[in-house]
Amino acid sequence: MRFNAILNHLNTYEPGKDIEIIAKEYGVKEVIKLASNENPLGTSQKAVEAIINNASKAHLYPDDSMSELRAKLATKFGVRIQNIIIGAGSDQVIELATHAKLNSQNAFLQCGVSFAMYEIYAKQVGAKAYKTKSIMHDLAELKSLYDKHKDTIKILYLCLPNNPLGECLNESDVEEFLGGIDEDCLVVIDAAYNEFASFKDMKKHIDPAKLIKNFTNTLYLGTFSKLYGLGGLRVGYGIADEKVINALYKLRAPFNVSNLALKAAVAALEDKEFAKNSLENNFSQMQRYEEFARLNALDFIPSYTNFITYFFEEKNSSDLSEKLLKKGIIVRNLRSYRLNAMRITIGKPYENTRFFEEFERILRGN
Ligand SMILES: *Cc1c(COP(=O)(O)O)cnc(C)c1O
Repeated sequence: MRFNAILNHLNTYEPGKDIEIIAKEYGVKEVIKLASNENPLGTSQKAVEAIINNASKAHLYPDDSMSELRAKLATKFGVRIQNIIIGAGSDQVIELATHAKLNSQNAFLQCGVSFAMYEIYAKQVGAKAYKTKSIMHDLAELKSLYDKHKDTIKILYLCLPNNPLGECLNESDVEEFLGGIDEDCLVVIDAAYNEFASFKDMKKHIDPAKLIKNFTNTLYLGTFSKLYGLGGLRVGYGIADEKVINALYKLRAPFNVSNLALKAAVAALEDKEFAKNSLENNFSQMQRYEEFARLNALDFIPSYTNFITYFFEEKNSSDLSEKLLKKGIIVRNLRSYRLNAMRITIGKPYENTRFFEEFERILRGN
């Protein structure tokens, strides 16, 4: 059978390896997964209760207006319910935005290294990718590349903070930058880790209400997969001007998020204690990762997220990741981004301790 020619140019997303599969394959008892930026504290107890309490309603289709979760998010962010769309992960909102704006005649722009799904979706519709030479967000370079190709660039992605590197722009610089982008270019502000950045430094905090009021061409993306610990349930959201949301709604499949996921997300938003503990654990443990890097002379970018990225000079990140895997520790090798680097999700204290012990031994070659 032959498929659409466009498929010849597509790669499949490479997900973090699965714990059970690695345990079997490598014969290790306890596998530690520090690869997918999941919440190491697990799922909020309130969300677990919401799932259990609603489990017997699995035969019912979800409320397709998703008004309970949208109203909660509207209140949290100070926007109207009409400004919000819920997706099966914010990934799905990226997909909808791609279909709303991109085609084989136009292009998108991102920094040198950013979230892989932007390009994966864009390629599915044959759109061209523009990336800056700088791997991190460099607004001056983004602006000059944008100006050069502004007739064709119809989506511009800013990942704040950036996955897989961890750096984050200041909100004030982003606002100034947005003033120079045409109304017809959709600027997607991917805020998957913005709660982490805001906790570390309020200058990094992106306020979607202010954003969409001043710039009607922006789409803010949030997710329940990272801080809120619901990666397995697939819930994310987009916040934008009503015109943008209406366009995305035309592309959305009905019942795109399950009723249990919606209930769990509402409960997770209410569990402020869980979120606070997660943020505190993250940044106190992050210090141990920075210290480890200094002790072992590894380069890293100060991170505003729940992961840290280590860079290597002589040693090879694929090699190092494979050796960690044999010890039952899963990290994210960044070879597929053409970087000799690895991204490590900040875990629970004992998980991090195990990582440091094993990785130090590996680095020393014994
Ligand atoms: C994890 C992540 C997302 C989306 O995750 P979902 O699970 O689909 O909500 C989006 N952007 C970035 C940068 C991410 O790291």
